[in-house]
Amino acid sequence: MFLKRSKEEIILLMLCGLSIPSILPFGLIRMAQKNWLLATVDLLIVAGMLCIMLFVWRTRRVRFAGLAVTVFYSMGMLAAIYIKGQAIVYWVYPTMIAAFFILRANEALMINSVSLACLIGILFSAMSVLDLSSIIVTLVLINLFAAIFSHRTNLQHSELNQQAEKDFLTGVGNRRAFDRKLQEICADDHSQVNACLLILDLDHFKKVNDQFGHPVGDQVLISFCSLLRGRIRAIDSLFRYGGEEFVVVAMGADHITGARFAEELRALVEKTELLQDYPVTVSIGVAKKLPSDDTDTWFQRADTMLYAAKLSGRNAVRMDQPPEADSAGGAGASSLVAGSSSGR
Ligand code: GH3
Ligand code: MG
Ligand code: MG
Repeated sequence: MFLKRSKEEIILLMLCGLSIPSILPFGLIRMAQKNWLLATVDLLIVAGMLCIMLFVWRTRRVRFAGLAVTVFYSMGMLAAIYIKGQAIVYWVYPTMIAAFFILRANEALMINSVSLACLIGILFSAMSVLDLSSIIVTLVLINLFAAIFSHRTNLQHSELNQQAEKDFLTGVGNRRAFDRKLQEICADDHSQVNACLLILDLDHFKKVNDQFGHPVGDQVLISFCSLLRGRIRAIDSLFRYGGEEFVVVAMGADHITGARFAEELRALVEKTELLQDYPVTVSIGVAKKLPSDDTDTWFQRADTMLYAAKLSGRNAVRMDQPPEADSAGGAGASSLVAGSSSGR
């Protein structure tokens, strides 16, 4: 159950969990010393952390809990310094660093700036200007370093995410990126979005490998992708589904424009010499997204059309039939099948 939790939840739970055994002994010692005021502050912080842990455990609302925990322990830390004075000022350092683990860098910077202003107010009359300046400068520095570190980590994170969704051979989106894209489009149930799914499968590609070798086959896949990339629009996306099978998601395309677009791609591949003196062709199955589609049904219909294109002799486009209402509006079935058939 613990393993299924997001890393934000785990960080928050661990932080609260660790702060309890770190602060509780001080609270107990201060109780033993009859220092009731400080003991109360310590025990309130511990109780607050426990409540937040329970809240996160039960509700999984990390955004609200993260803000609450940072504000809460910053206030606790300031209250403790107000009571005890400069002797415990070093607690400010871990408190401020922790904010960067829990919140976005700009939120952490904002809360820490307010805390720093309050701290200056509390310590102003109790310390020499030089000592107070040292505290201010070192706190500003750790905030700056933490913000830079957080920014760098975020950059690396998004770079890693991009790499994880890229096909290593062709540089186009991989299966994982495709699944995400499809889910995004289908997330809105019954949406009226116009989009066509084109599944492109190179014809008799095994023969290319057998005849010219795998490295040449690889080069054909790379050239095929750069050819398609040069043809699709910025709002369309190209993915490698696996092996010699690719997918284009054509946004804004209805039955007619989707079929026309697929036919353009098929003709483009046919007329381009992807391999010297050897015809490389592609078969394409097309399906327009229907309001009732989920990712599986949409993909399945395009895949069935690809199968039909292969059966028809390859180097062909097949598009699924529009529903009755659409065809009555003029998108006739005759516009759905395009391309030549050229078995080799
Ligand atoms: P069809 O027209 O029915 O699609 O025939 P096909 O030969 O293209 O299909 P098949 O599924 O029989 O073979 C696919 C071939 O694609 C076999 C495999 O060697 C090749 N292939 C898959 N991935 C790669 C790759 O990354 N590089 C190279 N060079 N070849 C690949
Ligand atoms: Mg093939
Ligand atoms: Mg295939």
